[in-house]
Amino acid sequence: MSKGLREYLSLATAVAKWLWGLVRPVGGYIRATAVFYWQNGKTLRSGVWLWITDKLPALDRPEDIRRELRMPLADREGLRNVDGVWHVDLPDRCVMCGNEAPGAWLEEPRSALDPYLLLMVPFAGLAVGLVLAWWYSSWWWVGLLPCAGAVAGYALRRNELFLLRLKRCERHADHRRVPELAVLNRRLVMRLGTREVKLAFLRHEQEYVALGEMLPPPELTAESVPQTIALADSVAPDAAIIADRTELRLPASDERSGDEIP
Ligand SMILES: [Zn+2]
Repeated sequence: MSKGLREYLSLATAVAKWLWGLVRPVGGYIRATAVFYWQNGKTLRSGVWLWITDKLPALDRPEDIRRELRMPLADREGLRNVDGVWHVDLPDRCVMCGNEAPGAWLEEPRSALDPYLLLMVPFAGLAVGLVLAWWYSSWWWVGLLPCAGAVAGYALRRNELFLLRLKRCERHADHRRVPELAVLNRRLVMRLGTREVKLAFLRHEQEYVALGEMLPPPELTAESVPQTIALADSVAPDAAIIADRTELRLPASDERSGDEIP
């Protein structure tokens, strides 16, 4: 073997090693993406269903709607973020059946994967891929871009952490599945045991109220609208007097005239 050929071979080996060092982590990342999608198939499928029922609530199952809450992940009564963990304060009753639960408060940590970007980035990749496939007359784009989108979605994946404060009656002490939690696009979906528990949460009840004495909850999404108009602030306050008011004053003037008669 000539000296030139040996030098050429050692250079080629070095380049191949360098390339392999570059490709190996990328391959590992693609493999980790595929494993992650495979292992979280159930969360991703339920994420698709949550997205559909968000857009078309009529498709949701009535028994789920009755006990389900959907709200943005933002500080509000019963939900607050403490050092990156969402604290959920549930009402003072069994989270499963809504009856009185005399035992101590329980604290349960939970974690929920937000599948929104894991679904939407590959979907956007597919849409762009279809356009490019039509433009360049090559189906490669349809295969390539959704896969690239999946890798990007995996890189952007996000878990939300929760700490639930709740009660369980003796009968439901082992029903640890309820409440069910899911997150989609930074919105919390929480399914409680019954409609009564959901209503008590919306009323921010922190003390037990018997089921028969419960009041209807406030509207979850309603903004607080001012109920009165500040007349003093209007340009001409007298103009705001309603005509009927003058008729209402009549009996008073009759009384006064009556007093004057004797
Ligand atoms: Zn119970």
